[in-house]
Amino acid sequence: MSANKSLAAVVTGRNQAWQVVEIDVSPPSAGEVLVEWAAAGLCHSDEHFRSGDRVAPGRDDDLFPMLGGHEAAGIVAEIGPGVTKFSVGDRVCASFSPICGTCTFCVSGRGSLCNGNKDFMVRGQLADGAHRHHFNGEPLYLMAKLGTFAERTVVAERSLLPIPDDVSFEAACLVSCGVSTGWGSAVERAGTRPGDVVVVVGTGGLGSAALQGARNVGAGQIIAVDPLPFRRDMAKTFGATHAVASIADAKPIVDELTWGQGADRVILTPSIVTSEILHDGLELTGKDGVLVVVGMGPLGETPVPIDIGSFALYNKQIRGSLFGALDPRVAVPSLLNLYRRGLLDLDSMITRYPLGEINRALSDQLEGRNIRAVLTMNGH
Ligand SMILES: [Zn+2]
Ligand SMILES: [Zn+2]
Repeated sequence: MSANKSLAAVVTGRNQAWQVVEIDVSPPSAGEVLVEWAAAGLCHSDEHFRSGDRVAPGRDDDLFPMLGGHEAAGIVAEIGPGVTKFSVGDRVCASFSPICGTCTFCVSGRGSLCNGNKDFMVRGQLADGAHRHHFNGEPLYLMAKLGTFAERTVVAERSLLPIPDDVSFEAACLVSCGVSTGWGSAVERAGTRPGDVVVVVGTGGLGSAALQGARNVGAGQIIAVDPLPFRRDMAKTFGATHAVASIADAKPIVDELTWGQGADRVILTPSIVTSEILHDGLELTGKDGVLVVVGMGPLGETPVPIDIGSFALYNKQIRGSLFGALDPRVAVPSLLNLYRRGLLDLDSMITRYPLGEINRALSDQLEGRNIRAVLTMNGH
């Protein structure tokens, strides 16, 4: 397929199946790069948009038709004018959050909160707001201005990070979003310490990385909670000492391990964080404990009943977590180094599917037959 065409997985309306179609791709403009994607993970953020559970009523025209994907790795195929960070042939991964490198958050090592990402979920290219990807003549919305469920897309150089030569594209793609988010949520955001009793609720891509993060810092006991049997089995290989189907089943285990004081760290990584999960997670959180909310909730306000007395008197904390509070510029090389040393198991998380089988990949992921589906493109 020529450089200005690409196979791509597109959704034309709320809750429709992915269609793998040919799209038109314009050449990169100033500050942009054409990337040939090799591997792209299915992150639940894409699914929130496809299913429409995070699309406000009446906003469908802003999102569809949508080219999905934001967790990916590939090779630079062409550079636009003024690109300084990359050359043709460089191996790169996507950064779902563009990084300007100069705002307060970037210069203080909090690149995932970059002020330059404030419009990264709206239509148009990061560089100039124009469209460079069309399907049947219609401009496409690109997930996180990346659209990596495709053979090639044009993205801003600010949305890319270099990756080393000796790691696979599949491994690098997981670190570009889900694995960093899960790992950082356990290690950085929850601040897990040696000996802690840690609960991870939801052990798909994010949760499996959170389990490994907790194991690596020396958590005492790690309780995995997931209703899907395959996920519970895999959780044991990622460091869980216990694996149960529900938060209710985790409660007596936590009580026994902590003499009724509650868990030190509770990390919420299910597909959707409901008010019940948040409430029950906070009940499980013990004295001076930290509850980290990683998964997304339903759109809009969600009332959550909280026992304010025990929240105050037990010195509890609730923390949000974007990209595990890590800076992508640091997280990508350091987590790939842990992978190289065998301290972070990415290979067991990956199930490969060709781009054309994206709908099977998605149903396998939603029904818990894999940990992370990774689409492969361009012969990789
Ligand atoms: Zn993601
Ligand atoms: Zn910035």
